[in-house]
Amino acid sequence: MARTRRKSPKRARPKPTRTTRAPSRPRSVKPAGARSGAAGPGKPSAPGAADPLLARIEGAQHQKFGGATVDVLKVGNGRIKRLVYPPGFRWSTHMQAVVGTDQCMHAHVGFLARGHIKGEYADGCGFEAVAPQAVVVQPGHDAWVVGREPAVLIQFDCEDDTARRFGLPEEHTHL
Ligand SMILES: [Zn+2]
Repeated sequence: MARTRRKSPKRARPKPTRTTRAPSRPRSVKPAGARSGAAGPGKPSAPGAADPLLARIEGAQHQKFGGATVDVLKVGNGRIKRLVYPPGFRWSTHMQAVVGTDQCMHAHVGFLARGHIKGEYADGCGFEAVAPQAVVVQPGHDAWVVGREPAVLIQFDCEDDTARRFGLPEEHTHL
């Protein structure tokens, strides 16, 4: 018996149509900051122009004070401040001599946009904030930056009238 070669029928394979090619992708646009070597998401970003939280603020009065960077904007009858405290900053170490009081006698009302701060009142009561968090600190305190990231505080400020305007005591109290 002759071996019949069974020719397997060619499987009908639908030929892939080559007519529709995926449109070539537009050249990927690099995210802003990629060129300047800014850190990616999740990484602590280096101070640089690419980071809007640290970038130059048009119209602000810019100053360095005891190692902190302060930008002041007048708004209405108050001010908005951006305070950037570097890692290692501590009020009693870096500001006390400049200010000349035992404790920081300013009230701080604002929003901690980045970083981690801790502080202590004269009676030993402590406070702490980790961004993002609202911050209310009564006059009469020391405070410092925790960790290796700068702390960025956006503060609502009425100069010497801050405590009264925000209904805070003139000095830390339990009343
Ligand atoms: Zn207390």
